Amino acid sequence: MQSLIRNFSIIAHIDHGKSTLADRFLEATGAVTAREAKEQILDAMDLERERGITIKAHAVAIRYRAKDGKTYALHLIDTPGHVDFTYEVSRSLAACEGALLLVDATQGVQAQTIANVNLAMANHLTIIPVINKIDLASADVEGTKQSIADILQLDATDAMPISAKEGKGVPDVLEAIIERIPPPSGNPDAPLKALIFDSWFDNYQGVIVLTRIVDGSVRPGMKIKVMSNGRTFEVMEVGQFTPKRTKGTQLLTGEVGYLCANMKEVADVKIGDTITDAVNPTGEPFPGYKEVKPLVFCGLYSTDTAKYEDLRDALVKLRLNDSSFVYEPETSLALGFGFRCGFLGLLHMEIIQERLEREYGLTLITTAPTVVYRVLTTKGDVLEIDNPAELPPPNSIESFEEPFILATVITPERYMGAILKLCQERRGIQRDIHFLDPTRVVISYEMPLNEVILDFYDKLKSRTQGYASLDYELLGYRESDLVKIDILLNGEAVDALSFITHRERAYFRGRQMAEKMKELIPRQMFEIAIQAAIGNKVIARETIGAMKKNVTAKCYGGDITRKRKLLEKQKEGKKRMKAVGSVEVPQEAFLAILKVG
Ligand code: GDP
Ligand code: MG
Repeated sequence: MQSLIRNFSIIAHIDHGKSTLADRFLEATGAVTAREAKEQILDAMDLERERGITIKAHAVAIRYRAKDGKTYALHLIDTPGHVDFTYEVSRSLAACEGALLLVDATQGVQAQTIANVNLAMANHLTIIPVINKIDLASADVEGTKQSIADILQLDATDAMPISAKEGKGVPDVLEAIIERIPPPSGNPDAPLKALIFDSWFDNYQGVIVLTRIVDGSVRPGMKIKVMSNGRTFEVMEVGQFTPKRTKGTQLLTGEVGYLCANMKEVADVKIGDTITDAVNPTGEPFPGYKEVKPLVFCGLYSTDTAKYEDLRDALVKLRLNDSSFVYEPETSLALGFGFRCGFLGLLHMEIIQERLEREYGLTLITTAPTVVYRVLTTKGDVLEIDNPAELPPPNSIESFEEPFILATVITPERYMGAILKLCQERRGIQRDIHFLDPTRVVISYEMPLNEVILDFYDKLKSRTQGYASLDYELLGYRESDLVKIDILLNGEAVDALSFITHRERAYFRGRQMAEKMKELIPRQMFEIAIQAAIGNKVIARETIGAMKKNVTAKCYGGDITRKRKLLEKQKEGKKRMKAVGSVEVPQEAFLAILKVG
């Protein structure tokens, strides 16, 4: 029954306890045993578990017998909390009526707390503030309440103090979900109207769609239509995750579940798309989600050139699971055939790279990440450049633009100086500094995204011992005085090592890159000259001397095992080498720009 359904998400800054609370819900409602829950069921992928983050949105249906004696169907939609995944959060929230706002009582409101609350408000959700980790001695429940009220302008009088870890207060939260979040309001007699908020690829059944039924219902055998492209499919299976995948007979108005309909391609299902009854369609599709554009690009190459096809197949499959990343074939003189890939941010990039290696057994060489630049040519064309190697020659560039973001950092006051310095170093323009509460400040800077993807987040974390949190939004493109720096090995420019930087920083970065390269490229049988150049002008030079003698010569005749070990070690090290001309270049060297200041 529709009045017994509650669709909700948990929104939180990363590490504030979302997955832990979700596990407690599953336990409390008997959906899983405590032992099963220990493994954090919602963070299904190994990778997610190891990194302790939730990458994809998941939807779990839980039966809950409330104090009023009725059994409710709770649909919990888990959302990621990282700055890269705003898009995933927003599309999951669109399938909900309410959200639990989880705030760590020892950390208070953080950058992503604010970002997520804004998304929830934009989706008109009922927000229930929940204050977590009250079992910890440093928990400040009153202070956290105060900042929820002051900063987020939410009524925090009914904020619920809990310990997700110990389960304390969790039953009250379940009751609050029933009492405060409204049931879904769709029309069961109207034609089917369902929202696609996630999808992934299953080897046996093709595309599996996570959907929220807004009006009508759907069952196997029904002919459905995807409204953006008019394609029709026959529904093969519907069901829910409980959290085990469980087949059902139908999905009714207000419910959240999955659907398979022999869809073979990503193009068949766009996230944010509307599914309707092919025979009796609904009039109006959903307005659709905001189109996300990848912000960060890099080249991906297999170390083994023979695996090019495997890499392509893996990208095709991954893209089925994640429509927010893009790729296209590219050729590098240095690296051969590979792909230029676009990501929402750096974490997103790392995750995709890691999945390609882990799930598809590939060994990759990745080039340094870059933003998308806009170049106005002297001929009047506007080019979007996501690969420094493709930049036209300087004399044909009229002007150069780069993306700027508004970065918002929340930090304890004592780190303020360190952060201002970091932002300044990265060409930041200070916009605002104000106190959030007596001990913490909000610092906002306009910054070139290009400077932020170079290790900014890691530096921010290390300079503040992990206490600062970051959120950012895109401001748009601005004209900048940029130059391309080429790196030459023995006189040959290596396209995969070129990077674009501000003219002010060019000499410094060129020099640093050359030094870094010298550190990273192992000695070889011949001397290697490393140069950094702007156009024809060399701005830095380093030399790696030739190897004197065979390393194995060190092991005197007899010691076979040691010799073998050494050879094996060399082989290991080689795995991630790419021969660029005659020079063997290790993976780290392609990312060296990330390590220069
Ligand atoms: P998420 O990133 O929001 O999903 O956070 P997790 O659920 O993964 O929790 C982050 C960390 O906080 C984990 O080490 C949890 O064990 C811990 N944690 C979560 N809830 C509590 C709690 O109520 N008390 C304490 N002491 N630790 C908690
Ligand atoms: Mg989590």
